[in-house]
Order: sequence, then structure tokens, then C-alpha cells
Amino acid sequence: MSANLSDSVQYIKSVGPKRAEAFSRIGIKTIRDLLFYFPSKHLDRTNVLSSIQVYGNVRNGYEGEVTIIGSVIDTELIRYGKKEIYKVILSDDTGKFECVWFQGVKFFKNRFNYNEVYAVSAKPVVTRYGNLQFAHPDFDKLENEESRDFKNTGKIIPFYSLPKELRSGNIGDMSIRQILSNAVNDYAKFLSESLPQNIVQKYQLLDIVETVKNMHHPSSNEMLLKAVNRLKFEELFFIETLIALRRNLIKNEVRGIKFAINIDSIKSFITSLPFNLTNGQKSSIREIIEDLKSPKPMNRLLQGDVGSGKTIVSLIAAKIVIDSGYQVVLMAPTEILAHQHYLSISKFFADLNINIGLVLGGQKKKERIDILEKIGSGKTQLIIGTHALFEEQVEFNNLGLIIIDEQHRFGVDQRSRLIQKGVRPDVLIMSATPIPRTLTMSVYGDLDVSIIKDMPLDRKQIITTARTEKALPKIYEFIRDKSLDGYQSFIVYPLVEESDKLELKAAETYYHKLKDTELQGLRVGLIHGKMKWNEKEEIMLKFAQHEYDVLISTTVIEVGIDVPNANIIVINDAFRFGLSQLHQLRGRVGRGEQQAYCVLIGNENNIRKMKIDLSGMSRTQIELNRSRIRINAMMNTSDGFELSEIDLKLRGPGDLFGTQQSGLPRFNFADLTEDFEILVNAKEAAFSIIETDPKLKNDENVIIREILRNNFRDHLAYSSIA
Ligand code: ADP
Ligand code: MG
Repeated sequence: MSANLSDSVQYIKSVGPKRAEAFSRIGIKTIRDLLFYFPSKHLDRTNVLSSIQVYGNVRNGYEGEVTIIGSVIDTELIRYGKKEIYKVILSDDTGKFECVWFQGVKFFKNRFNYNEVYAVSAKPVVTRYGNLQFAHPDFDKLENEESRDFKNTGKIIPFYSLPKELRSGNIGDMSIRQILSNAVNDYAKFLSESLPQNIVQKYQLLDIVETVKNMHHPSSNEMLLKAVNRLKFEELFFIETLIALRRNLIKNEVRGIKFAINIDSIKSFITSLPFNLTNGQKSSIREIIEDLKSPKPMNRLLQGDVGSGKTIVSLIAAKIVIDSGYQVVLMAPTEILAHQHYLSISKFFADLNINIGLVLGGQKKKERIDILEKIGSGKTQLIIGTHALFEEQVEFNNLGLIIIDEQHRFGVDQRSRLIQKGVRPDVLIMSATPIPRTLTMSVYGDLDVSIIKDMPLDRKQIITTARTEKALPKIYEFIRDKSLDGYQSFIVYPLVEESDKLELKAAETYYHKLKDTELQGLRVGLIHGKMKWNEKEEIMLKFAQHEYDVLISTTVIEVGIDVPNANIIVINDAFRFGLSQLHQLRGRVGRGEQQAYCVLIGNENNIRKMKIDLSGMSRTQIELNRSRIRINAMMNTSDGFELSEIDLKLRGPGDLFGTQQSGLPRFNFADLTEDFEILVNAKEAAFSIIETDPKLKNDENVIIREILRNNFRDHLAYSSIA
């Protein structure tokens, strides 16, 4: 028998036209579509224990996750002042156990009814009243007959999510299991392989038929894992293929500029600097010079923590390009930074006779026209501005290099747009946000990466502590004392995005209050996001010139100006910030030779010390402890890369910074926080195929080409098989 998997789902046993209609409402039209409607999870009978067994295990110190099946015998809503706790009591043949929710009570409180049967999974504890308890467990409702079947047969049972479109089409938990079981039994065998055969073999992947079968009805946990890994591999493989194609286009088909390198002139510039370069700076410069020499356009990410000295590295590249007779543009994320770059670069280049232009918002019309004219004629060799430079139609004379500072908000598509204008300028992106390796490899996979790991001048470790608001008087005293020694301090109030106004009010209110009370006698400044950039800059410059002892601010100091004297930063409501933001904020101090301090203010709960072991914690535990983990991570390490890895794990797969603006498809299976090894393999496979067969013309690769064209059409714009 053969079958056409493109036929409508209605031909599957127990589907029919009505249910087919329901499926089509969630995008499932064909039999193939349905075969790929995978369970959201499985319940493994081998993990199911009776409550009395679990009770004993916990008493003996067992700390892992378990599943118990029981029926609801009571529910309880407990109020403590404003707080509500929801409790469900269940029992199985051997005894009682309870589930509690401290958060999301509203959502859970009407879901459990007397006599309903649930499979409950979590790490259990025994309370001080001797009750077996699960906090915030995972739970699945079981039909009665099914629960009996489940207990007896020892199968691994699939759980499918049931959106309302399906429920209203008369498809329930049991029937969907039945429908999928029919589909898999009758049709999975007709699936054709979607990866090249040699790749399946080389990486010992499960073939597509076994993969689909085991995704629904795994014969063991190992087989389920193999099936999932095959799907992850496949997903990453196609994404890496897209990246490889893009990179191939840039490297081989787009013409770049071959810049002339005058080693002596570079050397004498480096000798003229007031410091010696660090090893990381030197090796980055070497890598960049190789790119500039080559006729292929540079596409490089320069990563280094705040203060690692990226600017000077980019200036050496700029000098080479300018010496070859081309223009360079430097884009900063904010106008303050653009202006600061302008001032400090003018100093570095003071003796070099380089014409530098600054493009800012708020410049007078005549002034602006004058600048644009000089850029157009080529008189201005180095142009500094913000990203807005690219929104506007600035006409360059012969642009050779684009330097992007703090690329955060600068996605692949935007970069790709630059490619399209004739001869491609080289691109150097500088990032102070350490990007986890998994991300640079995938999302930023078409970039080469240089990393500056070492810091200049062996800067002292910043001492980071966490305190509650009760400690604030002591902290203010510390600030007063240290100000006698010439220290300056930042006091930061968090940015709550929905309410800029409130935040502003907090900073303003505290400014007025502190100035006249705890910080009386000190010179206190205020800076906030609602100010115009030149107002902000004026305040920052005053602070840098030590006209203030304390600067009260919203988060606008996140990126900004070097103040070597600033040695204390107090971050209020620290739990509101993400890790990378906290790290950036802390990077504002400790830029001089003195010992620096960072004080994080939180509540009793989230400043408590803990050992951070993210791989040993469940998703729920991580979520419940997120702020506490962040604050502890800050106390434990000042390594930006380490913090970024933790941040990635905290955010979870659905919320990766960078993936949205990357212009790449979303992940359905792969989780960049966990699948590094699979990613490495998928990348290796994809890149080696594109290297030898860039047009995907070989027989074994035709399948890749077909799948890309069918499923990734929108993402092929910048590739050689468009
Ligand atoms: P970032 O990487 O955060 O952009 P910058 O390029 O602004 O860092 O450099 C921070 C400060 O360190 C600047 O004042 C810069 O002049 C200085 N600097 C850069 N490299 C060195 C070095 N090798 N030794 C000492 N100071 C350096
Ligand atoms: Mg910088």
C-alpha cells in the first residue's frame, strides 16, 4: 500500500470532516501536518510512585522529581493578610498528599474539582506538619479509565496540547491520543527522509520514520531522547545552512575592498598611545588586519567587557582604511556616546590630520547641510553619529568601513541591507554585552568573532554586596565617609518601562529628599531619561569633573561616560533589572585604581545567599528564584561571559535576546541554553556542505535545496540560492 501524506487529515481513522475542520483551524490540514503534531510532553510510568513510597523516599533524603497519581478530595484557599495560598489535597490508595500554589492563585483556584484524577509531578517535600507536599507542580488531568490503564500497562503516555479550536471540534484528551495513534500506525512509515542520507549516517541520527514514531509513542526514554535530538539537529541544520549560504554570499560573491596595510605607520601610532595594548587587543587587531587585507569584506564582531578597550582597536582599523583613501563611519547607540567618541577620538587622532565629522540630532540646519556636503565630497574621512545615520540618506563619497558600537539593537537584516549597495564596505561590530557562545554561533553565525578577554591595568575586583532597604541609612553614611576621600557615587533607581513617569518621579523624589537629609552637605546631581541628550551630557561632564559627589539617576548611565573617580554604585530594586543590565551598571564604577563597591538593594527574600546550580534546578524553581539567582550571580562573579550564560538560562529558550531581531526563523525544538553540542554538529554539517556545494546542486543535497525553498523562502533573500 502506498499513501499520499498530502491528503486531508479527514481520511485518518476517527477523524472525518468535522474534526478535520477543527484541525484546519490550527493549521493542520494534511496527514503529514498531523504526524508532526507532537505531544507537549510524556508521562513515564517508571517515574510514577505511590504516595507512601514517595513519603519514605523524602524522609530518606531523596531530592529528585517524582510523579504521583491521585484524585482530588479537597481544596482550600488560605489568606495571609493580602496573600493567598491555594491548596489541593489528593489521595491515592496509600495515602494523602497536597499541592500548593503561592503565585498565580487566581489562575489555578478554579481548576480542581472533587474526584478528578491528576498525575502530579514535582520535587516533593515533607512539611513540618508531616504532610507530603508539592509546590507549584506540573499536573495533568487523567480520565478515570485511562489512569487505570496507565498504571497497569507501563507505557509512556503522550500528552497533546488541546487548543480551544480542537476542544470545540469535539476532540478531547483521549480522542486526540486515539487519532494520533491511528495516524502514526497507518501513515508514519510513508514519510520520506528530510535530511541527506550521509548526514543521517555520519551523525548517527534516527531516521525520520523512527523519529516520528518515537516522538508520539517512545519505546523507551532513550528512544524519545534520540527522536528529540534528531529534530533539534534538523532544525539547527537548516538554520545553519541559511547562515552558511549568507556567509558564502558575502565571502565569495560580494566584492569587498582590499586595503593597503602600512605596518610602520600602524606601529608608530600604537607607540604614540599613552598605554600598552593588552594581549586581547593585540590579537584582535591582528585578526582585523587580516580581514582588511583580504578582498573579501570583513564581517566581524569584536567582543569585550565594558572597559576592555574596544574603541582603540576599532580606531586602528579606521586609520588603515582612511590611509587607503576611504571613509569610515562610526555609529554609537546614543548621542551622548557619539559625542564622547568624537571628543576622545579627536584626541587620539590629534596629530594625524584626519578630518572628523559629527552628525547629531538637533544640529542647526545650516550646520547639518555643511557636514553632509563634506561627507558627500569625501573631505570628511571619519564620520561619527548614531544609528539614525542609516535611517537618513547620508550620501558617502567612498565608504570603506562601518564601525558599530554596542550592536545590541542591530540585527542581521539591518546588516544585510548594507551589503546591497555595490561594493560592500567592511563591517566591525563592537559589543560590550558578552554574548553566550551558543548565540554567537547561531544567531550571529555569519560573523567572525574576536574576543578581548583581558582588562587593561589589572583593575581591582569590585566588591558586590546585597542589602535590604533597612540598610540604606548605613549605606548613605558610607557614601558620606568615602566622599571625604574623594570617592564619587551613583544611586540608581530602576527603569520600569511601562511607567517612565513613575520612575522619573522616584529619582526626582529621592533626589530632593536625600539632598536635604541623609546626603546633606554633599553635592548631589540628578540625571534622567527625559532630559535632552545635551542636558544629560552636561550633567555627566560635571560629574566627571567632580562637581558632584553623588549622582542620582535612572538607568541612563547604563552606557555613558568614563568617571574614574566613581567608585560606589547603589542599585535600588535591583531585582527589577536583568543580569546584563546589572552587569553594565556595575561597569560604571571601578574604572580607576581605587577599590570600588556595588550595593544591590533587594528584599529579604531575593538577597539571601544561595548556591547557583541551574542545571540541577527545575524550570519552576528557576522561575520562582529568578531575582535571587541574579543577585547571587552578581555577588559571585564579575565575569561578563559567565553572567551572560546564566542570563541565557534564566531567560529560557523562548526569550532570547537577539533572536527576534536576528531575521532568522524561530526555534521549535532546539533550546540554545542546552543544545550546544547538537548546534556544533549541525553547524559543522551545514558549513561543510555549503563549502563544497554552495548552490546545492549535488544529488544528495537536492533535498536541502527543496526544503529551504519550501519552508524558508522568506529567509533566502541574502543567499546564493535566492
Ligand atoms: P570599551 O571596551 O568599554 O569601549 P574603551 O575603549 O572605552 O572601553 O576603553 C576604556 C578606557 O580604557 C579608555 O579610557 C581607554 O582609553 C582605556 N584603555 C584602552 N586600552 C587600554 C590599555 N591597553 N591600557 C590602559 N588603558 C586602556
Ligand atoms: Mg565602548
